[in-house]
Amino acid sequence: MNKQLAILGSTGSIGRQALEVVRRNPQRFGIAVLTAHSNHQLLIQQALEFKPAVVVIGCSGSADSVSKALQNTGIEVLVGNKHIETVVTMPEIDQVLVALVGIAALTPLVAAIKAHKSIALANKEALVVAGDIVMRLACEHQVPILPVDSEHSAIFQCLQGEQSSTVEKIYLTASGGPFFGQSAQSLRTVTPGQALCHPNWNMGSKITIDSATMINKGLEVIEAKWLFDLQPHQIDVVVHPQSVVHSIVQFTDGSMKAQMGLPDMKLPIQYAFAYPERIAADFGRFSFMDVPNLTFASPDTETFRSLTLARQALLSGGNLPCILNAANEAAVDAFLKHQIGFMQIPEIIEQTMHKGVFIANPSLDELIETNRVAKNCAKEIIKSKEILFV
Ligand code: NDP
Ligand code: MG
Repeated sequence: MNKQLAILGSTGSIGRQALEVVRRNPQRFGIAVLTAHSNHQLLIQQALEFKPAVVVIGCSGSADSVSKALQNTGIEVLVGNKHIETVVTMPEIDQVLVALVGIAALTPLVAAIKAHKSIALANKEALVVAGDIVMRLACEHQVPILPVDSEHSAIFQCLQGEQSSTVEKIYLTASGGPFFGQSAQSLRTVTPGQALCHPNWNMGSKITIDSATMINKGLEVIEAKWLFDLQPHQIDVVVHPQSVVHSIVQFTDGSMKAQMGLPDMKLPIQYAFAYPERIAADFGRFSFMDVPNLTFASPDTETFRSLTLARQALLSGGNLPCILNAANEAAVDAFLKHQIGFMQIPEIIEQTMHKGVFIANPSLDELIETNRVAKNCAKEIIKSKEILFV
């Protein structure tokens, strides 16, 4: 029997690439569940091709067209994102790819772990918000969490055959985004269109803006802490504009292992699906002679302050990473709607972090409440800035 997958967020950038991996390996992987929020046309197309048992469409406005298109196919159509939590527990599912964007992934992830499903984790916000709870649950239920984020997949691949006690530190590489090397002054007038042009990766809009502000790397530092059980000082960030070295582990004897390749998310997705096997693929090969100069630099944490704020949240712990994440989600949304300027994103995050009520050991419910309160707080701050921005 091939491995049955639930693809949460199948219409997104990761979801579409995951289906491409499945399309290339029909003998190995099958689809049990697909979910989308509003892109009903693509969901229908995917469902007709991959024939899952169930699809979930989040927006009720699109429900009728999905039900109509899939009638007489035997595919069950569920309406509303709340169903994602229940479909992940279906007995026929072997592995759940969590490729939803933002904190929306947290409760489905927890439900899938509790249902003993193997997890391929692309979403990073859930670990940023509740890494402690999620990793403890996974350990308790003996559920593997296989990283899909390219840097974390790189670290995971470098750690194969190694003992965790021999890890001295890790280096997460960062492309630097479209604005690497620019001054804070020149970034004040950046438009969403400019920020959405990532030099190396073609991703969803939220993570593309996160890469431009570099908070993405800050979120990834927190993600790495939880995935690999590291202390903050063991996680370094190095800018590597070519995105060929995906990340590096340094061991206690001074040896360093890096995982390299062309930037292509299908590779870490396939690795997580096939693990512990490594299966052949004809993804593009990197040629040293095409890019003979791989370069490395320190991140500019003064211009890209979001990275510094994420480190502060990590060091303080408790619900502060949740507040940081909520404020960032609200600020990115406002930036994409032209309500605030690019350089106001870190300002909003910082002000929301200052206003938040600190909880040292939050429960899952307290984190969900923290997220709600922090998002409202950030939206209030955005309203005041919006007036100044216009
Ligand atoms: P996209 O925005 O491209 O896709 C998000 C998916 O989630 C879509 O299927 C979307 O449906 C669905 N969705 C959106 N909002 C909700 C919601 N509130 N509830 C349920 N479903 C929802 O994102 P990406 O694929 O780029 O990223 C997904 C996750 O993976 C993020 O956490 C990101 O940080 C991480 N990641 C992404 C990488 C990439 O290369 N893209 C690389 C590494 C990590 P619809 O299409 O209908 O709106
Ligand atoms: Mg990444």
